[in-house]
Amino acid sequence: MERTLIVFKPDAVQRGIVGEILSRFERAGLKIVGAKMLNPDYKHYFEHYEGIGTLKTRKGDKIFEDQLASMQEGPVIAMVLEGVEAVEVVRKMVGPTEPKSAQPGTIRGDYAHVTYSAAASINRGVSNIIHASAEKDEAEQEIAHWFSDSELHDYQTVHERFTQPAPHKAKK
Ligand code: UDP
Ligand code: MG
Repeated sequence: MERTLIVFKPDAVQRGIVGEILSRFERAGLKIVGAKMLNPDYKHYFEHYEGIGTLKTRKGDKIFEDQLASMQEGPVIAMVLEGVEAVEVVRKMVGPTEPKSAQPGTIRGDYAHVTYSAAASINRGVSNIIHASAEKDEAEQEIAHWFSDSELHDYQTVHERFTQPAPHKAKK
């Protein structure tokens, strides 16, 4: 089973929409295997966004620094979700980076509307509610960066009844 990292950004926490959004993932059958609220420092975000995510390399210093400052505006809630091809499924539910371009039905399309240029003009990172790992390799690195092994939990969900080997044979 695959695991992915999501982080409810300060805008989601401060708007009080974490529960509403989390319910979308639970409804889809994704299993919460880790969860915590924290206030990461610059070093932690540097590793997350550049060491792993290459944001500074891809987008330059201004966007990078604006984004790190925006993430430090308040606490965030980090979670590890597990499910069949969870990385791709969760990214599909989250939608593309720029809320203006994100389709209705995606989290970023339903809960935000801002553009890259509007955010840059006010020296903010794009407030797009939630972070989600983009690829399997990124997910593995991000989970190790945000969670220790002892913070990840093992239990059975009802949904797993439908994603585990069937115990029965067809009745004839
Ligand atoms: N970001 C931004 N301006 C940009 C690109 C990214 O403010 O031009 C912010 C935005 O909050 C985004 C985060 O930096 O979610 C990480 O960027 P990435 O390209 O990895 O997008 P994501 O994987 O979050 O969709
Ligand atoms: Mg990314």
